[in-house]
Amino acid sequence: MKMDKISYPSMGIYTQIIGRLGDYLKWELIPPATPSETSIAEGARHMNELMCLPAKVGLGQFIEACKQGANKLIMFDSCGECRLKCYWILQERVLRKLGYEVTVYPIRLGKGTVNDIRRIDPSISYWKALVTFLKILRDIYHLDKQQYEIPEQTNLVKIGIVGEIYTILESAINRRLVEKIEKMGALVHNSLPLSYFIFKGFYNRGWMTRQGMDMKVWREAKDRAHRYFPQEIGGHGNESIFHTIYYALKGFDGVIHVLPFPCMPESTVATVLDDIHRDYGIAVMRLIFDTHTGEAGLDTRLEAFVDILKRRKHEIIKKQQSLKIPYDPDPMSNKEAMRG
Ligand code: SF4
Repeated sequence: MKMDKISYPSMGIYTQIIGRLGDYLKWELIPPATPSETSIAEGARHMNELMCLPAKVGLGQFIEACKQGANKLIMFDSCGECRLKCYWILQERVLRKLGYEVTVYPIRLGKGTVNDIRRIDPSISYWKALVTFLKILRDIYHLDKQQYEIPEQTNLVKIGIVGEIYTILESAINRRLVEKIEKMGALVHNSLPLSYFIFKGFYNRGWMTRQGMDMKVWREAKDRAHRYFPQEIGGHGNESIFHTIYYALKGFDGVIHVLPFPCMPESTVATVLDDIHRDYGIAVMRLIFDTHTGEAGLDTRLEAFVDILKRRKHEIIKKQQSLKIPYDPDPMSNKEAMRG
């Protein structure tokens, strides 16, 4: 019997872990190629220009997988109330129009995952699908545990990243944003590692603690965020608001708001983040990624942002040392010190 060839879109550092589905379930997997200018352009050519960048990137990768013989494709289907839920329908339509005999299977993260895995391959038992899912969750959890911890007290500039999850996680799309900032001598914290997305229900109920995060302040930030926007936005718009407040309360020097063009939830919250910048005094820079994001322009903006934050932090520390008070990461205290 001919074996199915299965592929899936990349997801930054998690791509390999998702690929372990092949080992665990004995599937013949075609790993996704890293998104390239060519594959993104190919995806964009066949997708409506008004669709968001991740839809185009995923389609480009699927076209490449189909060229290698994939007949089943897995598309992530978890983005709150946003249109990520519809990607698989659009992508399958395009691929069939292009002549590929392929089925795109949406896969949810959560209680629907086991059934979704069995829909892709009905020969897999419920228990095998469940154990596989748990192994993948464990692997993601362990990967995230090694990352994203940055020291509370440091003289280095601290920057938090908020925004749309795929653009944050896929470095080929964000042009190696984190790596670039770290090379400029700043520390970076990602508000949305994949484990957040998976365990968010547990965090919200207080059943689990987020690695490297102050849960008391995190809950406080969520309460304060509600005052700025008392409604579900979809995607990760609400997360962008409360994580920006969290970073402000934890004394971070700046926040980078990352979004793909034309992202509905993230463009909706943009003005709210500007208000948080004004109210809390935390610097917020917005980076919008599209099919033609130029690397040189991005580098210049990043360098200028990090440079300003470094100078500002240096001045605060100098002022506080002259006043003989220890450096206080609370931005409100910093403002007081500067006034003094
Ligand atoms: S969150 Fe943004 S990028 Fe993701 S599906 Fe929604 S509009 Fe598109």
